[in-house]
Amino acid sequence: MPQHVAVILARKGEQVHTIAPHQHVLEAVGAMAEHNVGALVVSSDGRSVDGIVSERDVVQRLAALGHEGLDRRVADLMQSPVVTCGRGTTVDEVMGLMTAGRFRHVPVVEDGALVGIVSIGDVVRSRLDELEVQAEALESYVTGRG
Ligand code: AMP
Repeated sequence: MPQHVAVILARKGEQVHTIAPHQHVLEAVGAMAEHNVGALVVSSDGRSVDGIVSERDVVQRLAALGHEGLDRRVADLMQSPVVTCGRGTTVDEVMGLMTAGRFRHVPVVEDGALVGIVSIGDVVRSRLDELEVQAEALESYVTGRG
């Protein structure tokens, strides 16, 4: 049975760390470090998805501009449009989006509002859980138990 994003959110929660577009890159770096995350959703109101900024964007900007890059606004380096998914999207579909887009974060949106975020770590964990369940079922089948 395919796993859905809703299952991932039920386990990890719906909290998403956001940053407003007018804030500075230095603040984004601070927020990523504080919350121990690799990406922030850019949102002016905490509900809408205006863009996304990840460690990679910061590294590229710093490589191009040096420390002056830290004084730029988040709006200058965020990526937009953002590829999003819903609670009903399957984990396999999210994996496909990440592979096709070469990114590791997919925000979850419902009725136009941000309700969570799925990272590549969440996807890997979910796939491992699924494989474990399948392996146990197979073992019970071949040993005649269960
Ligand atoms: P990541 O692998 O998530 O660190 O992101 C790699 C690049 O893709 C960065 O430029 C991000 O801003 C961008 N990015 C990350 N997630 C998304 C997304 N869901 N939609 C569009 N761009 C994204």
